[in-house]
Amino acid sequence: MKIDPKTFTKDYLLHLCIQCGTCTGGCPVKYRSPLNMRRLVRETYFTDPFPSLSKRAEIWACTTCSTCSLRCPSGVKNVELLMAIRNYLANKGEVPSTIRDALENTLMQGNPWGRFRDRRADWAKALGVKIFGEATSETLFYVGCAPSYDPRVQRVATALVKIFQNAGVDFAILGKKESCCGNEIRRMGEQALFKKLAKDNTILFKKLGIKKIITTSPHCYNAFQNEYPDLNLPVQHYTQVLVHLIETGHLHFSKELGTSVTYHDPCFLGKQNKVFEEPRKILASIPQCEFMEMERSRERSLCCEGGGGRMWAEGGTEGKRNAEIRIREAVSLGAKTLATACPFCLLTFEDSVKTSGLADQIAVKDIAELVDETTK
Ligand code: SF4
Ligand code: SF4
Repeated sequence: MKIDPKTFTKDYLLHLCIQCGTCTGGCPVKYRSPLNMRRLVRETYFTDPFPSLSKRAEIWACTTCSTCSLRCPSGVKNVELLMAIRNYLANKGEVPSTIRDALENTLMQGNPWGRFRDRRADWAKALGVKIFGEATSETLFYVGCAPSYDPRVQRVATALVKIFQNAGVDFAILGKKESCCGNEIRRMGEQALFKKLAKDNTILFKKLGIKKIITTSPHCYNAFQNEYPDLNLPVQHYTQVLVHLIETGHLHFSKELGTSVTYHDPCFLGKQNKVFEEPRKILASIPQCEFMEMERSRERSLCCEGGGGRMWAEGGTEGKRNAEIRIREAVSLGAKTLATACPFCLLTFEDSVKTSGLADQIAVKDIAELVDETTK
């Protein structure tokens, strides 16, 4: 969708928004920041386009979880509005320094952390993975930035490689040629950089003859599936692939898990892309995996606050983090493992399980790790 801040002024907002406050009511950071989406919509109507919003930290508190947009009875595209405001600020150079660094890093090294591009595939060296350029395949396993560089999430990428190899899936990775998908870049307001990433990645995928893409992260899945205008390739989040491998008999469980597990729906997989069943089907297939559902699940899942550039933002929120609240929900349910299917959720939960002092009561795992443990 083309972002034009003026789209969100008089014609759009005055006629659509009824100021009911549903957006603010459902916002997961409403207790942790001054962010008030209903007020923001109203204020945006009275400013042209957004000059008075320049210095307000709350603009960077939004996780772009989309709860507001999905619940708005009038169909206001609240998250697009928020991103348009951030785009306006980014074009004026008025972004927090940590966000600016993440954007510059992505431009220079192809990832928001600024890790060396040449080391992007180091995690895969001992795994015997095919890399485009040296080998070929019709299926791209698009690893993503966090699974390529973060040691905790590298374990998820490694688990997925082992599962795919175990199930006889033919695939290759891009190695040093892989660049950020741009999902978070767009949400941090850098529309021009997102467009460049989308264009360059699309050209690369087509040049390599890729026919199908599998992603580790729901954020990459969202970008490829919904926001790359010229990609037109089938894209699957890995949970969708694993369900297919299990149901078609390509993946066999050989061990019992022997513990209780609850599942946290990542916003970009669940509410935003309606992938609710596949993760649950996988967990139901694992032998001796006692599944427990949290009350706030599926569309009502509580955002962990890892999306929308919050991984690189500092400040804008205070008080107990949602990820810690979520850990406590899982512990009070009696689950011994909190499973998720997103690198950002995994990292925020791993952090919160330590800061909340509950690491001896509950483990945080990605579903891929649970499958890898039980299919060896
Ligand atoms: S939920 Fe929609 S209609 Fe209600 S205040 Fe928010 S933007 Fe306006
Ligand atoms: S996208 Fe999520 S965090 Fe941002 S304003 Fe909407 S409900 Fe709040």
